[in-house]
Amino acid sequence: MTAPLPQNSTIGIIGGGQLGRMLAMAAARLGYRTVILEPQADCPAAQVANRQIVAAYDNPAALDELAKVSAVVTYEFENVPVRAAERLAVSVHVYPPARALEVSQDRLVEKTFLNGIGVKTADFRAVDGDADLEAGLAAFGRSGILKTRRMGYDGKGQRVFRDHSGGVTGSFAAMGGVPLILESFVPFEREISVIAARGLDGQLSAYDPAENVHRNGILHTSTLPASVARTTADAATDAAFSILAALDYVGVIGVEFFVLPGGGLLANEIAPRVHNSGHWTEAACAVSQFEQHIRAVAGLPLGDLSRHSGCVMENLIGDDIFRAPALLSEPDLVLHLYGKAEARPGRKMGHFTRLLSR
Ligand code: AMP
Repeated sequence: MTAPLPQNSTIGIIGGGQLGRMLAMAAARLGYRTVILEPQADCPAAQVANRQIVAAYDNPAALDELAKVSAVVTYEFENVPVRAAERLAVSVHVYPPARALEVSQDRLVEKTFLNGIGVKTADFRAVDGDADLEAGLAAFGRSGILKTRRMGYDGKGQRVFRDHSGGVTGSFAAMGGVPLILESFVPFEREISVIAARGLDGQLSAYDPAENVHRNGILHTSTLPASVARTTADAATDAAFSILAALDYVGVIGVEFFVLPGGGLLANEIAPRVHNSGHWTEAACAVSQFEQHIRAVAGLPLGDLSRHSGCVMENLIGDDIFRAPALLSEPDLVLHLYGKAEARPGRKMGHFTRLLSR
């Protein structure tokens, strides 16, 4: 790749959801074309991109075609098969690197990696059977959260144990017999996330941390500024920067943290992509997380991430989409809809950001 990527070059994006859509829109504003690899025809991203390759993410012929037509390839979700990223990387630059996928796809690998670079997490144990679960609960005061190691998102594939007194026989099988992780229960005061970026030249930048509230396991709101001390915000940013440097990362990353009483932090999850809790940046910053990601993967200088307003971003889930007309008549509100034809329960249909005073 010639850096910076010349105008009219093509950026390949794996994944065709709303994140891919917003990346494609940001790429277009910077003079780039986009090609989306996504099995679902007429997906939200393809509606605003130059072309879609309709195929599975691991289809070899589709990957080779994507590599052939793209100057650089990126992705919008962390469950891109690592082998697909590695196949692409033989002939085209893939950012963020495949290592970031490997680390974020498995909660056990992720937590081990984080602890290894000095970023604290909840205590955890691998659970490969009921006996591991029993031992873990005994170690964690009979409370914890049991999660699938892979393919979990938005709180799916999780079981909470609170002061569990009974036995655990059958619990492993009930979660599908797949590798699990037991995490100690974190008595957090609030949840925050940092959206940070690393450029092709190693330059680091981060937005202010957002304070996130979840409903039914799905992000409901992100509020800026977060109600945390400056020292806590700085520690979260430093942790995100350590992660970016350790992964030799290029692009935007989302890092979620639990804030403990007293202001301490435990990292929960990393997402090697633009993140729902960073959608507010399109309304309250000159450079959105989507533009920042495109700048990074295209080898352009990173943007200034300072925030000109306080704000609250709220997701529109399922029937919430019908609030759109009323929201459009509010001042200081930026609405973003994803072009999904059907409003199913739990489906992210759009979001809006209300600007507040700084
Ligand atoms: P996750 O899928 O890991 O992001 O978890 C979804 C949500 O469950 C988090 O945003 C927290 O609200 C909650 N949660 C996850 N892990 C823990 C934990 N170890 N202790 C307490 N709450 C947790």
